[in-house]
Amino acid sequence: MFTETLIFNSIQKWRIAIKFKSNTKKVEIKIVLLRTENPKNMIIPKNREEIELMRESALIVSKTLGMIASEIKEGVTTLYLDKRAEEFIRDHGAVPSFLGLYDFPNSLCMSPNSQVVHGIPNNTPLQSGDVISVDCGAFKNGYHGDHAYSFEIGEVAPEVRKLLKVTKESLYFGIREFKAGNRVEDVGNAIQRYTENHGYGVVRELVGHGLGKKMHEEPEMPNYGKRGRGKLFVEGMVVAIEPMINLGTRNIKQHKDGWTITTADGKPSAHFEHDVALIDGKPELLSTFQYIYKALGIVSNEEDEFRKVPLVL
Ligand code: MG
Ligand code: MG
Repeated sequence: MFTETLIFNSIQKWRIAIKFKSNTKKVEIKIVLLRTENPKNMIIPKNREEIELMRESALIVSKTLGMIASEIKEGVTTLYLDKRAEEFIRDHGAVPSFLGLYDFPNSLCMSPNSQVVHGIPNNTPLQSGDVISVDCGAFKNGYHGDHAYSFEIGEVAPEVRKLLKVTKESLYFGIREFKAGNRVEDVGNAIQRYTENHGYGVVRELVGHGLGKKMHEEPEMPNYGKRGRGKLFVEGMVVAIEPMINLGTRNIKQHKDGWTITTADGKPSAHFEHDVALIDGKPELLSTFQYIYKALGIVSNEEDEFRKVPLVL
């Protein structure tokens, strides 16, 4: 008889289980990868109507992070921000995607400093010098939006500011490769090359993903890889591209709460995420950081090349 121990429980699609088999003659240990979604391993392209519905969900998440940007500061707790986000999402006719997803207890994943992703909101006030990844999902009209930004609290060390800047830049290097004729690892390769050139660690265990009626669809979108490898991109597919980049080692560890993931060396990590559709063979942004930038007084044209129609806030 096999007994099973789940040792990796994350928002990602893969889980690893160790199975033990024993009888009087031998003990056998098997490591099994459990697929939790999309057993047919298929990319599900969307038509134009579906993509517009997905844009609506992505913009609700973008607006939610814009609201967070205006509230996040020294002394505020992540639990307070989580409650504000849940109210905001529901006020916009949507449901928080993460709340209850694989039993996650909150609406936002809030991961400060050495936490990479999947941090659980709590009552610890934010401090000047913190950096924090805020990851948010919203479900409306049958489709998910999924979007993340790493915020600086007060005065942040220059090397950490640079980590955030380079990680966000790497997101756009990745998005540029999401085009007709390219394959999944072309995106990861662009992100990996740019960030490793800065001496940073690219997390391997956690990846971006297809997005649609389910939060995690095919294909997995790793932030590393070799050029020309992986599934071919198809018109109408929608993906969440989300580099998770560490200041030091790429290695991570999972905490006993079953969720929180931190860097193995305790150094900070950064995380940015956009939802992108492949339209007419080119990447089209569905999410936007412009609500965040408006709240923070930042002027940026970084998204313009990925939008056919200018965004009206
Ligand atoms: Mg996300
Ligand atoms: Mg995601």
